[in-house]
Amino acid sequence: MKIGVLALQGAFREHRDVLARLGVQALEIRQPEELDVCDGLVLPGGETTAQRKLAQTYGLWEPLKRIGRRGIPILATCAGLILLGKRIDGKTGSSLDLLDVDVQRNAYGRQVFSFETSLRIHPLPGIPDGREPVRAIFIRAPRVVRVGEGVSVLGSHQGEPVAVLQGSILGLAFHPELTDDPRFHRYFLEAVRRHKGTPAREKAVAETATFLRAAVGDER
Ligand code: GLN
Repeated sequence: MKIGVLALQGAFREHRDVLARLGVQALEIRQPEELDVCDGLVLPGGETTAQRKLAQTYGLWEPLKRIGRRGIPILATCAGLILLGKRIDGKTGSSLDLLDVDVQRNAYGRQVFSFETSLRIHPLPGIPDGREPVRAIFIRAPRVVRVGEGVSVLGSHQGEPVAVLQGSILGLAFHPELTDDPRFHRYFLEAVRRHKGTPAREKAVAETATFLRAAVGDER
């Protein structure tokens, strides 16, 4: 099982460390070809604009959309969640558009208004202690201002969604990689295990291979 952590900017080392504690050596992703071998992907928090620009510069933007549409499990935190949404601050066109939510950046204000709180979450499927509250650290966090029909809200803060799930994409407005609670990462790894080897994935792999052959030409 190969897990990639997008390593352009932000808190990617922290995610890699949590995964290492769970026994998974994650790959740091900086090149498009590195994405193709991933069975699951983590999009870390950081600075949305910087991450988008770097992803575009390194040719990762379209490949990210492509593997997201293929249904690969994704764990996205904060800036990662922002990049996945449909509208950012009311506008389309600057996100990966893989998760049917709209977000407002820096919605709680400046850095001094960052906060830590205890969150009740919906039981995480397959995670035995997945119903215990989590310590959630919010750092210049976004607000999820609209949630599409296919999106489940797993956790809310003051009535607003902060943990959302659509298919195999889990988006969190806070930072589980900064606490000692690996449940969201365990849940993500479970999703990857379940997803790997499914007919949908085999079909997606075959489609990607066809796409790549068409793009690079038959080399024989
Ligand atoms: N404020 C950042 C942004 O809008 C996100 C913060 C974070 O990832 N912790 O890009």
